[in-house]
Amino acid sequence: MIEIEVFMLGTSAAAPTKDRNLSGIAIRYDGKILLMDCGEGTQRQMLRYGLNIYKIEAVFLTHIHGDHVIGLAGLVRTLSLYNRTEKLTIYIPKGYSKALLMLLHFDKPVFKYKIEVIEVERGKVYSDEKVSVKAFRLEHSVKTCGYLLEEKERRRFTEKAKRAGLKGKEFSEIQRKGYLQVNGKRIDIKEVTELILGRKIVYAADTRPVEATVRAGRGADLIIHDASYIEKDKGLARERMHSTAAEAAKIAKKAHAKRLILTHISTRYKETQDNLKEAREIFRNCDVAEDGMKISL
Ligand SMILES: [Zn+2]
Ligand SMILES: [Zn+2]
Repeated sequence: MIEIEVFMLGTSAAAPTKDRNLSGIAIRYDGKILLMDCGEGTQRQMLRYGLNIYKIEAVFLTHIHGDHVIGLAGLVRTLSLYNRTEKLTIYIPKGYSKALLMLLHFDKPVFKYKIEVIEVERGKVYSDEKVSVKAFRLEHSVKTCGYLLEEKERRRFTEKAKRAGLKGKEFSEIQRKGYLQVNGKRIDIKEVTELILGRKIVYAADTRPVEATVRAGRGADLIIHDASYIEKDKGLARERMHSTAAEAAKIAKKAHAKRLILTHISTRYKETQDNLKEAREIFRNCDVAEDGMKISL
C-alpha cells in the first residue's frame, strides 16, 4: 500500500497571520505532489516543510479569490528559473482561466515549460495510475469547486492464488489480463484476489455547508473543510459564504467520514479551543488545522 501524506501548508482565511499562511494543501504519494490551492507564500511553505516543488504534478484551484491563487504567480516563475521542462496543469472553475492566465503572465515572462490551464465544473478532472480527482460544486461568493481525491481500487492476492497454482510471472500476467490458464484450468482474477477500496480525501473550501460535500465525502478517510467562523459569528459565515466549525462537523457526521480537519480559520480567532470544542461536540475525530500539520493515510 502506498503512503498518502497530506500537508497543510496554509490555514488562514483572507489574510496571513504570524502563525498561519494563506490556503494551500500538498498531497504527496508515489513520489509526486498534487497541490490544492496556492495562496501567497505557498512555495516557501513547501520549502519549510521539506516538500520538493519540482514534484508538483498538477494544481487544483478551488476558486479565483486572491488568498487561494496569488502564490501561483511566484511558484511558476521559480519552476522556470530552475529549468522545469515538464508541463504543469492547473485546474480552475469554469470561467476563470483568463483571469488566472493574466495573473501568471502579467509581466510577460518566458516560461521554459508549458502551463496548461483547464476549466472544471463537475466530475473527473485528473487521473493517473494510483488516484483520480473529481471536482464538485461548492457554494461561495464566486464559482467554487471542491475536490475529491480517490485512490484507485486494487486487488490483493489471497491464499487461493497459491492454492490455484499461480507462481512467478503469472501473478502480473493475471493482473494484466484478468484471467489465466493454469494447469489447463481457467482462473479468473476475482477468484484469487480480494478488492481493496481506495482511500478518499475531500477538500471543501471556501463554502457554505452543502449536500455535494456530503456526497463526495461519503465514507471519506479525511474531509478538510472551510471553518472560517464559529457559531457565535454565524451571521458572518452566512454573509461571507463560509462555514462555521459546527457546520463543517455536521457535514463530516452526515458523510460518515473518518476524520475532519477544520481550515481557513478567520484571523479574529487567536486561540482555537472554542472552534475545536463546538466541532467535536458534533463530530469527535476532528482537529483544527495548523500550518505544517501532516496527516498520513
Ligand atoms: Zn479564502
Ligand atoms: Zn473565497
